Amino acid sequence: MYSLIIKNAQLVDGTGEPGRLSDVAIQGDKIVNIDQSINTPAEDVIDAGGKVLAPGFIDLQNHSDSYWQIFDNPQFDSLVTQGYTSIVIGNCGASLAPLLSHDALLSIQKWHSLEGANINWQSFSEYIEELSRHRFACNVASLVGYSTLRRGIVGDQVRSLEKEELAALKKFLVESIDAGAFGMSSGLSYSHEIIISEIELYELAKILTQKKALFSIHLRSEGSEISEAVEESLDIARSTEVNLKISHLKVRNESNWPKFDEIIQKIENAYHKGYNVHFDAYPYSAIWQPLYAYLPRWAIEGGRQVMLKHFENPVQRNKILAHLNNSGVKFPGMLVASTANKLNFVGKTIGQIAKNMEVSSEQAVLHLIQNGGSEVLVFEENLNPEQVKQAMFHPLSFVATDGGGFPPAIKDRLVHPRCFGSAPKFLNMAINGRELSLEKAVKKLTSAPAEKIGLKKRGEIKIGNFADLVIFDPEKINSLASYQNPYQFSQGISHVFVNGKAVLTGGKITTQLPGYVLRKN
Ligand SMILES: [Zn+2]
Repeated sequence: MYSLIIKNAQLVDGTGEPGRLSDVAIQGDKIVNIDQSINTPAEDVIDAGGKVLAPGFIDLQNHSDSYWQIFDNPQFDSLVTQGYTSIVIGNCGASLAPLLSHDALLSIQKWHSLEGANINWQSFSEYIEELSRHRFACNVASLVGYSTLRRGIVGDQVRSLEKEELAALKKFLVESIDAGAFGMSSGLSYSHEIIISEIELYELAKILTQKKALFSIHLRSEGSEISEAVEESLDIARSTEVNLKISHLKVRNESNWPKFDEIIQKIENAYHKGYNVHFDAYPYSAIWQPLYAYLPRWAIEGGRQVMLKHFENPVQRNKILAHLNNSGVKFPGMLVASTANKLNFVGKTIGQIAKNMEVSSEQAVLHLIQNGGSEVLVFEENLNPEQVKQAMFHPLSFVATDGGGFPPAIKDRLVHPRCFGSAPKFLNMAINGRELSLEKAVKKLTSAPAEKIGLKKRGEIKIGNFADLVIFDPEKINSLASYQNPYQFSQGISHVFVNGKAVLTGGKITTQLPGYVLRKN
């Protein structure tokens, strides 16, 4: 007797092979039979009615840890309703372990305030142990964040590492990977990684290569210096043969859009020369980031306290305002998504706020950073929609949310619609926009990311694999989330199973938490 049989499904198994009508049987957490017709008794039978049955989606670029949702909302509503069954956290240089000192966790403050957080781990291994005592709606794998490692050693200081410090950092990286981290991430454009020398990165990439672990890089620049930034990452891949994934690839600001073809060419060249290089992208043309990231580098080096002192000094304040003025960024149209301190600015544009305050948009930016607390996030529409499409449908890309697993609503806070709609929006564009075949589109969300990160027995519907599955209607699947109203579940997805248990059934979330922490190897 099987636990579950899914009958009459258009089986799209994740490999990219043509779909076929089939039944699939599940016993416990595994797929145990795939056949045209399975008539063995089962505790539960679901008739898919010819809809697509695919492997659950895998999100290689997820921030459910930096937004603290792994603790606050293990239900991950916004992710499971999109069909995600495994996520990879610890991205963009910030993971929640190892905590080598009090300063280590500061790297996530740009995303989430740490007030009231209950932290009872130090090493990566203790962190994984703690996570293994928790259950989630989908499976959770983590990278170790370079910024977290580095800040644990040098704190807020902006300088190169001493020899012994680098040795210590390497040791903690090895320990983290051995404890189950799937690789390392870095966030080279963030304040504490801006000054990292390439030599430091090479040394760490070599360890990742030895350990067959992923290096996920948030580029040093996604704007005017993006070509150099891509080149820097590819150089690391060429000289260390590390398994490289460039995070959320995009070119910001119209003036830089002409660089897009060149960077894609660079990545393709490296791939065709045999290097393991890929990138991920999300299907939206607005970015979501901390407002302080628009400040000049010198103003953010040294951390928030140093930055706020610059604001108070009239000479430095004017220099910052001039920088913002000349940056080419269209501040008036920028939408405030959230502020740590309550300011009633959420959902307003910076133009509206400036008008109400009778100041310039640039002055309003400083006011917001100063008074909004450690976490002021904005949406800025600055990507070329055609390039967004090209990146997403490129053979070397994965589609990832770069978002978190959020509940159905949060008061006074907007999250990027990519948290609620990336996979369904991509599938809709692929299938109904005829950009990519259904099978190839599914592969980009399933076996391709599983292979990239070395996730075993997931990402493909195969006997013996874990029963991480999604049933969707290819004609109806789409996202409903928007910038002003992100809290909308996607349409066209009826069932999602994680380790054989339903987390979504008949389009409704169940309260089951069958997901658990995954360890490398
Ligand atoms: Zn990032």
